[in-house]
Amino acid sequence: MTQTEMIWKYQEAEAELDKLKKELETTPERQRMRKLRKVLTEQTERIEGYKAGIKEKEAELEASTRKLEALLKDYDLEQDDLNIMMEDEECTAEELTESRRAMEELLEKVNGLKKSLTECQGWINKTTEAIKETYSKGSKTKRDYEAAKAVVETEKLERKPVIDKAQKEVERIELQLAPDILKRYKAIKKKYPNPVATITDNRCSGCGMSVSMSVVKKFQAGNQIIECENCGRIIC
Ligand SMILES: [Zn+2]
Repeated sequence: MTQTEMIWKYQEAEAELDKLKKELETTPERQRMRKLRKVLTEQTERIEGYKAGIKEKEAELEASTRKLEALLKDYDLEQDDLNIMMEDEECTAEELTESRRAMEELLEKVNGLKKSLTECQGWINKTTEAIKETYSKGSKTKRDYEAAKAVVETEKLERKPVIDKAQKEVERIELQLAPDILKRYKAIKKKYPNPVATITDNRCSGCGMSVSMSVVKKFQAGNQIIECENCGRIIC
């Protein structure tokens, strides 16, 4: 077998190996496993997002609680002042009204704060529930994922002999190739998946361009490695 025939065989063997590997990579179960892994990642990220949100709300809750305590203290002081004023005969009606108005304002602030505290707590409760729900969904996803993974592992084992055989064939031919041809092949492979082309009707099967007569003649002359002048593929 000439080197040109051998390099063609090599390309075929590589294509076969690639095809087998690709088939294994794209089985329905493998795709299902990938999808489940994606869902699992999304669920984990969602939980992390929820947890971060809760942490934020808890800090908010703590700050609001301290604010509320301060307001209630102010309210008590205002109440004490009012009591004193009411017993004070020199205190004017305006002063009393002013004091009552200050208390009403404080009360309004207290109520507003209480409302936002309740809302905040409600949000935390709701989100905690959502975390629980996502966890339980996540454990189902995890089970499905593990099951799919087990099937994928079996598929891999089942196909291993065939893939190993194809790999060995590639290696077997590689050993018979002259190093400079192999080097050239590998260099072209970086550009094209099929580094070896044939000539049909004076055209390169790789790029579709016509090749010059001198190339055709050189090729017909025999055991010499010819490249397409246009794409650089090895012609056989
Ligand atoms: Zn070409």
